[in-house]
Amino acid sequence: MNRPNASGSSIESEQLRPIAAAAKAREPMNVLIVGVGGQGVIMVSKALASLAQSKGFEVKQSEVHGMAKRGGTVFSHVRFGPQVWSPTIPKGEADILVALEWAEGLRWLAYLKPDTGIFICDTKRIVPPFACLNRRPGSPLRYSRETPAEVKAHVAEGYAIDATHMAEELGNERVGNVVLIGALSTALDFSAEDWEKSLAQFVPKKTIAVNLDAFRLGRNWIAEARTNPAKIESPATKTAAPAHVPYSVRLEITAEWCKSCDICVKLCPERCLRLNEERIAELAQPEKCTGCRLCELLCPDFAIKVHLDSPKQGVAA
Ligand code: SF4
Ligand code: SF4
Repeated sequence: MNRPNASGSSIESEQLRPIAAAAKAREPMNVLIVGVGGQGVIMVSKALASLAQSKGFEVKQSEVHGMAKRGGTVFSHVRFGPQVWSPTIPKGEADILVALEWAEGLRWLAYLKPDTGIFICDTKRIVPPFACLNRRPGSPLRYSRETPAEVKAHVAEGYAIDATHMAEELGNERVGNVVLIGALSTALDFSAEDWEKSLAQFVPKKTIAVNLDAFRLGRNWIAEARTNPAKIESPATKTAAPAHVPYSVRLEITAEWCKSCDICVKLCPERCLRLNEERIAELAQPEKCTGCRLCELLCPDFAIKVHLDSPKQGVAA
């Protein structure tokens, strides 16, 4: 797949079509950011809110992240303009919906303005444990089956970005949210330089360089998508991996992070984990593992990562 690279400080301004005119007029600009715990939804929201405030706009921001650490849904409303009365965006009133996870993006589509709303969504799939339809390994998942092409047909302007994979190629999958900030930046009337300054306030100092690369990658990706959509398409952007395909499960256990607490062993519904002689968790009976991801969500030390690999589509989640 060809992707624009992260080199160069910014793309040409004439390639952009900012839609922030609404914020200059009386109406507030409404940006809804959604995802699941641990993806960095709140950081996206803070970077935008801080930038808008620095430009003299009144800003209202609200967020919900109750079960965030356990893979629960996280969302944040950001509204800015000359005057903003309410912190929440009514249904059908979001100018932009930024989704860090594919199914979460689809769940919030009703909040987009039907005629002008912009949908920017990572194709990343985080399948919740409850999506397993039964306890047989490789069984089908109840997960959204819509492809990006189908979704794009229902929104005024839509972009399905392989943001997490782009971040992985930069060497840090955690900057997937910043790839999306880069994409978002092209839809608002703030300069790239101002975005970069705002971003630098919210990321650890040692990761500023990779975050700026991720920002430029997302920004350039949108420019490319607008001028030459075929060039930036990948299998993941053409078709979200269908939910009902067989997949195989791969557990990645980071031994250095495992504190031997035994939680995963006790709570695995299939009893296929155990602590080894060094008291580190290991998958003792891989043939029984259904990929339900409970161990990943319950491990307090984030030592387990469950990969669901589809033979037809490559990594599906
Ligand atoms: S829950 Fe995490 S820390 Fe506890 S035993 Fe399992 S892998 Fe180790
Ligand atoms: S090892 Fe983890 S993913 Fe596999 S069945 Fe047990 S809890 Fe679910």
